[in-house]
Amino acid sequence: MIIQLNKNISKEEKSNITSSLNNISYKTKTVNTQYKNYLIGIGNNDFDIRKIGNMPGVEDIHKVSMDYKLVSRKWRVDDTIIDLGDNISINRNDLTIMAGPCSIESEEHAMNIIEHLEENDIRIMRTMVFKPRSSPYSFRGLGIEGLRTISAECKKRNIKIISEVMEVSQVEAMHDYVDIFQVGTRNTQNFNLLDALGKVDKAVMIKRGISGTIDELLQSAEYVFSNGNEKILLCERGIRSFEKSYRNTFDLNAIPILKDKTHLPVIADPSHSIGIRKHVEKMALAAIMAGADGIITEVHQQPEKAFSDGQQTLNYPEAKRLYFNAREINVLKRNLL
Ligand code: PEP
Ligand code: MN
Repeated sequence: MIIQLNKNISKEEKSNITSSLNNISYKTKTVNTQYKNYLIGIGNNDFDIRKIGNMPGVEDIHKVSMDYKLVSRKWRVDDTIIDLGDNISINRNDLTIMAGPCSIESEEHAMNIIEHLEENDIRIMRTMVFKPRSSPYSFRGLGIEGLRTISAECKKRNIKIISEVMEVSQVEAMHDYVDIFQVGTRNTQNFNLLDALGKVDKAVMIKRGISGTIDELLQSAEYVFSNGNEKILLCERGIRSFEKSYRNTFDLNAIPILKDKTHLPVIADPSHSIGIRKHVEKMALAAIMAGADGIITEVHQQPEKAFSDGQQTLNYPEAKRLYFNAREINVLKRNLL
């Protein structure tokens, strides 16, 4: 059960509501986000919700019985819009495109990408400086220093930054230099990290775990929301299956199903899912038609020389074509669906 509390609720009113819930064997959890105050009731006794709904201090009450509640569309019907400031927002109508290399290799490299993004009116840059790599001998990113310089340049040019955070201690260090924290597939169920990201007022994009179910992804999002942060995006990036002909199994089905189950925006990552450059564009377009609110894709001036994931990274002309076609297909989707 989700109870939205009045902004000016008194201590006494809140304690009366809590006691009434405890009396019917419901445990309660207070959730204060950047926007609203809620009381979550956890229990399974059936009762007339009007009894709680009519109590002083209650603005709104909903029964939501699944494990994830605040991220559920059963409770909030309208799509969530995430405002990144400076007229950049993630919303259902305007396709969000995030692009950039797998990893930032140097400051010059970043500047080159920034120019490319500006030329193509892409407002969110993949700026990965902490890289989770399967091998400890691979390039693991420029670290926080790199992020600091690039962020200053992006601020001047009104480009927002998405960057992967790998551990709790990095949240504070990265905070002032990112607009969206990315939680990578290896950290989808790092609950301490999700708790920490629930305590900041920055957007968080959670990628689906490598063998994670849709409901597990939603529960990860619930961690962030229930810790106080409503600015959450979800990302389908392919899951591991028995098929070895491509990098991961891009679960296109997950996109409309996620849109049914949650009010949060859904982003698709065609680069890490199929993992084959020449097919990235097709899969991006398919994901948009399947209902994705945006895409995140890898791009590099010379993919064959990229420090990581060159095999799935688009060069500039390929990326330009993708941006154009993605925007076209989004118009078609809006008119069709
Ligand atoms: C990435 O987007 O840089 C990345 C490492 O992706 P994933 O966590 O999906 O593998
Ligand atoms: Mn990559």
